[in-house]
Amino acid sequence: MANKLIYFFGKSKTDGGGDMKALLGGKGANLAQMTKIGLPVPSGFTITTEVCVSYYKNGRKAPADLAADMEKAVKWLEKEAGKKFGDVKNPLLVSVRSGARDSMPGMMDTILNLGLNDATCEGLAAATGNPRFAWDSYRRFLQMYGDVVMGVQKKNENDHEPFEEVMDALKKEVKVKDDTDFTAAHLQELVKRFKKLIKDWSGKAFPTDPVKQLEGAVFAVFSSWMNERAILYRQKYRIPDEWGTAVNVQAMVFGNMGDDCATGVAFTRDPANGDNVFYGEYLVNAQGEDVVAGVRTPLTISEMAKDKTIGAAHKELNDVRKILEKNFGDVQDFEFTIEKKKLYMLQTRNGKRTALAYVKIAHDMVKEKLMTPEHAIKSGDPEALNQLLQPIFDTTAYAAATKEGRLMAVGLPAGPGAASGSVVFTAGKAEELAAKGLSVVLARIETSPEDLRGMIASDGILTARGGVSSHAALVARQMGKVCVAGAGDIEIDYHKGTLKCKGVTLKEGDHISINGTTGEVFHGKIATADSELKQVLVNRTMKPKDSKVFQYYDFLMKLADKYRTLGMRTNADQPDQVVNAIAFGAEGIGLCRTEHMFFEGDRIIAVRQMILAKAEDDRKKALATLLPYQQKDFEGIFRALNGLPGCIRLLDPPLHEFLPQHDNKKGQEEVAKQLKTTVAEVARLVSELHEFNPMLGFRGCRLGILRPEITEMQARAIFQAAAVVLKEGIKVKPEVMVPLVGFKKELDLQMEIVHRVAAEVMKATGKKFAYTVGTMIEVPRGALTADEIAESAEFFSFGTNDLTQTCLGMSRDDSGSFLPAYQGLEIIKANPFASIDRTGVGQLMKIGVDKGRATKPDLKIGICGEHGGDPSSVEFCHIIGLDYVSCSPFRVPIARLAAAQAALRHPAKSVAPKVIKDAKAKSGATKSKTSSK
Ligand code: PEP
Ligand code: MG
Repeated sequence: MANKLIYFFGKSKTDGGGDMKALLGGKGANLAQMTKIGLPVPSGFTITTEVCVSYYKNGRKAPADLAADMEKAVKWLEKEAGKKFGDVKNPLLVSVRSGARDSMPGMMDTILNLGLNDATCEGLAAATGNPRFAWDSYRRFLQMYGDVVMGVQKKNENDHEPFEEVMDALKKEVKVKDDTDFTAAHLQELVKRFKKLIKDWSGKAFPTDPVKQLEGAVFAVFSSWMNERAILYRQKYRIPDEWGTAVNVQAMVFGNMGDDCATGVAFTRDPANGDNVFYGEYLVNAQGEDVVAGVRTPLTISEMAKDKTIGAAHKELNDVRKILEKNFGDVQDFEFTIEKKKLYMLQTRNGKRTALAYVKIAHDMVKEKLMTPEHAIKSGDPEALNQLLQPIFDTTAYAAATKEGRLMAVGLPAGPGAASGSVVFTAGKAEELAAKGLSVVLARIETSPEDLRGMIASDGILTARGGVSSHAALVARQMGKVCVAGAGDIEIDYHKGTLKCKGVTLKEGDHISINGTTGEVFHGKIATADSELKQVLVNRTMKPKDSKVFQYYDFLMKLADKYRTLGMRTNADQPDQVVNAIAFGAEGIGLCRTEHMFFEGDRIIAVRQMILAKAEDDRKKALATLLPYQQKDFEGIFRALNGLPGCIRLLDPPLHEFLPQHDNKKGQEEVAKQLKTTVAEVARLVSELHEFNPMLGFRGCRLGILRPEITEMQARAIFQAAAVVLKEGIKVKPEVMVPLVGFKKELDLQMEIVHRVAAEVMKATGKKFAYTVGTMIEVPRGALTADEIAESAEFFSFGTNDLTQTCLGMSRDDSGSFLPAYQGLEIIKANPFASIDRTGVGQLMKIGVDKGRATKPDLKIGICGEHGGDPSSVEFCHIIGLDYVSCSPFRVPIARLAAAQAALRHPAKSVAPKVIKDAKAKSGATKSKTSSK
């Protein structure tokens, strides 16, 4: 490798910086940055992510120069620290930590106290005059090294950690309760037993040479990039495998040398609710892992101020808190150690936070001028905004549960919201019950990264041990799960499958309810209610001025609107859906699926009559019955739109969907009776019309071409509705959309009808209105001949649901049977029906855009497939220059934020947003057809 493999940070030089996260990983870059701004950081060096990438490219082999460069780096570090690696008098010990570009908390491996062996341990004991500390450090090192490098790990989730088991046995033998009660002699004995455990378990002796130890640790960190939980985490958060991790080697400082030492983690603000309070915890006489692992429940940071020995460090930490926010422009989550009263910073990163904290922090820090508005937008996870719609406990049910004395325990509120469901004790069971559609609360003594799958499957997470920065709290916060951590009064017995507290015993499957906003744990069910945001925007039972959450959310959304260039539309086919979508920020309808209206009330009878009719006249009669219904539907939609554009699609699905199928004989009998025909006739029709997957037969515009009276009726209903609403003084902007077009002629035939009917309606009503006619691009031929189609079409909308199934030759209805396996085998990275397959389907879209605009440079183009609400797909739509995205009402905020992020990430590609003009003008036609046709 030609590039520099190692970067230094220390007193004599620092060659990295905060803006080098891609190369140095988040941890390495920020350590360099903290060193540069003068914070007390122990010296160290970072092996770049490129080394890790090259390690995997070359079949898990390190670049040839790495060993020599590491040797030089260790020499440099020895000088910086004034200690020597392997020295028996004054040994240098190091920590070895992973550090990906985006932090992946707890997913990869860390090793502390590296450099210890029997001789250096004695040296450390002599040099510090503290043999207990030396042996404690040594046993910790063996424990981590044995686990991470030598594979001494529990075999299944109900097992105890092998090292913990050995330690517990010794505790019993020597009659001590906590690990802090061990004497130096106990710890020396523990070291002996740990070494034996490693030998027995792995068949190999623990390496005593520090250079060998370092080599093993560095490669173990590289390997941990590909461990199961890291892969799962990357899949969930869409972190590319190709990034690799950096490795940070740093001189150790010790929080476990006595009562004038401590270690802790802190957030510059509360990551659960965003409050501007110093939020953190620490343990006296401990090492960092103790805090995160939740083994001992730590003290809150404010208690440090009262500590006689290390109280001064509290003030220093408070100053650091301000410096960090000012320098990093965001809430920081940092680790520190106090060694003999002196504060050291070990890490800082942008703090993971709940959606509630995200919107509050963005609001506050932008106003305080500590955060740039761009960062406020860029740093959010659009998908997480869903959390703001998460339920809370129903007030009456909550009060009743409290009154009935069902409160069992109170833990730490670690992930806001309310969850009520079956209690389970293993990740496997959580997945099993969740797959059956049950709400699940995963209860563990403490969680570890192995529980990740179960945490994903659960609605809520409850732990008996651990603080607000324990693994459970950290991960829950990030996933937006409801979480109560460290509810110390509950007793969980994995073997018996029980949870006990205050005389109540819950068995696996029993109901439990947790309040992640207050930390309360109740037994039994408690009904949940809508979130504040929903109460303001959807139910309208709360006023915006009464909801802080709404105000923070609104601030952020308005900020997003300043940056996005993509227009926002919604897929909605009922007036109330339209109203909700507009409240969420939609600027019009991108897809109104008219067929959904056919199932309303008893109009399905007329639909069936229309299908059954053999002669055109009979069909027309049935359609005439349907027309007033459709017209009323469209009137409602236009009223709800109040002048915003409404893209209405002509009938699309195959007709068999409107009839009871073969497996519904009773339904067929009913239909026969309703339509005064025979069951045999209904069954015959069902057979004739039946479409096999992937339903590519008699549907879409093919229906309207062979049965033009259907198109005629729908067009008439749309335009008559437009005329009625216009008469009421409400502006209308109908857009008629033809589905499944692959040939220009198909569109032309349908357009002829639509234009003719529009002219007739305008004449009959005396009302003139603007309207456009366009097409969906949802079959590959449509995209490939978009230049021809654009000669007629006034707009395009990508139907990426169908475009995906036709491009991939994969049915959108039953590909679930093999897609997960395809993802597992990495044939595909994400479900192509959820997130646009950019290389395949995306290429067709790009062709469609380029060809369409080659014919009509200002052709309006949108998307209305499910992908319109998926952040990565929204980004893609921005890149290829679409005018708008359309998605379901509740995903509009997600798409708004994703569109703003896309505009900030790809500023050069932003397009003149014609549709925004549409939306903002709210009235008047842009480019329209009137009765001229
Ligand atoms: C599509 O195919 O993407 C689309 C929006 O249409 P539908 O899902 O109704 O087929
Ligand atoms: Mg479609």
